[in-house]
Amino acid sequence: MENKKSLKCAICGRSSKDVDMLLEGRGGALCVDCAMQITDYVQSVFGDDLPYGKKSSKSDSEQCESLNFTPKEITAFLDRYVIGQEEAKKYLSVAVYNHYKRINQATIAANNSKKGKNNSQDSTLEKEKSVLEVEKSNILLVGPTGTGKTLLAKSIARMLNVPFAIVDATVLTEAGYVGEDVESILSRLLQACDYDVKRAERGIVFIDEIDKIARKSDNPSITRDVSGEGVQQAMLKLLEGTIVNVPPQGGRKHPEQKMISVNTTNILFICGGAFEGIEKRIAQRLNTSVVGYGASSKTNKIDKDNLLKYIAPQDLRSYGLIPEIVGRVPVVTYLNPLDKKALLRILVEPQNALIKQYEKLFELEGVKLTIKQEVLDFIVDTALKYKLGARGLRSICEAIMLDPMYETPGSSIKELVIDLEFAKDKVRNITSTLDAVS
Ligand code: ADP
Repeated sequence: MENKKSLKCAICGRSSKDVDMLLEGRGGALCVDCAMQITDYVQSVFGDDLPYGKKSSKSDSEQCESLNFTPKEITAFLDRYVIGQEEAKKYLSVAVYNHYKRINQATIAANNSKKGKNNSQDSTLEKEKSVLEVEKSNILLVGPTGTGKTLLAKSIARMLNVPFAIVDATVLTEAGYVGEDVESILSRLLQACDYDVKRAERGIVFIDEIDKIARKSDNPSITRDVSGEGVQQAMLKLLEGTIVNVPPQGGRKHPEQKMISVNTTNILFICGGAFEGIEKRIAQRLNTSVVGYGASSKTNKIDKDNLLKYIAPQDLRSYGLIPEIVGRVPVVTYLNPLDKKALLRILVEPQNALIKQYEKLFELEGVKLTIKQEVLDFIVDTALKYKLGARGLRSICEAIMLDPMYETPGSSIKELVIDLEFAKDKVRNITSTLDAVS
């Protein structure tokens, strides 16, 4: 009690008996008048753009909507992590921007109708205005494995600071079959935000390998298709927007709570798949659609090496996705295969590029690491030769860097240069195994 009385405001020096309220902190106290003055000052400097996640007087659910990034800003952020894939970035940025604008619009409409309860004329007007509903635009990324589909989705979620979950469509089955129910997708999202349902309902889910649940044959079979069409039907509801009762997986955190209701209307689903062999269907469609006048000039313009760029909803249907799913994923875009130039950039350019990581690791040991350009070329050539893609870059680098990372700590080495001869020697083990396999 004595202690409390002797506490004084760190700014004006008044004690608790002279002020309405004294806010105690670890290092001292602040009176309510000074606290208010500080708030006013900060607001006068930053206006509505308060720092620290723009946490102004807005409620938690509104914060999500105050994501004021333009599509160009979203792309610029993606550029820091993902090399190339310009077309996909553009589609994704616009879709994500529109998605959160759509949520924003819905929230404003809901708030206005609450405010307008006393004014029936206003609320009728609002109702009329909100008749035009912007539809949700889930996204499909089509491209070879290891070209950055997951990375794009992950980076978007990181930028927006929304819960994010990755699920593999291949493990999903119809309810009741061995495997995971489609609802488990939402369990993952809930886990990602510590069961904060409001946040989960504005999250992003990446459904990988969606092509693997395509209908295997064109004729729907009479026997139940556990891994294909049945799963697509079950997934449809989630994509459209519905209220799903989700079993909390593990259940330890909420033993008393059996089911959690999650509304999927505002969850953004980004689907990804390699759709191997879809080029043939695209080629067929392009060939048949260019018959007639001017056909030859059109076929000449087609980039036959990268038919994926012409992907259209009808190709996805002929591949085996049911029309309803195709309709629920209206934004379809493609990723390019990664060529030598792209792989070289991936090694050194992204914010957390592999080479930057090794340099940092050695820097922490007080060692200056230099990896010669000829080594970088060699790493990329090896990844291309053995078709290891971007994912393979890491294992090749690890093979080269293992011994230096083992030997350097505790030694007197202050500078380390990795040259081609050394790299070739270290990689020989991996390549001889790969050669033996092929
Ligand atoms: P997928 O297309 O199969 O989802 P990922 O996004 O998981 O591929 O890519 C695997 C890894 O390869 C990533 O974690 C990243 O390190 C690297 N990678 C792939 N594509 C790119 C890219 N375009 N830019 C930067 N890194 C990439």
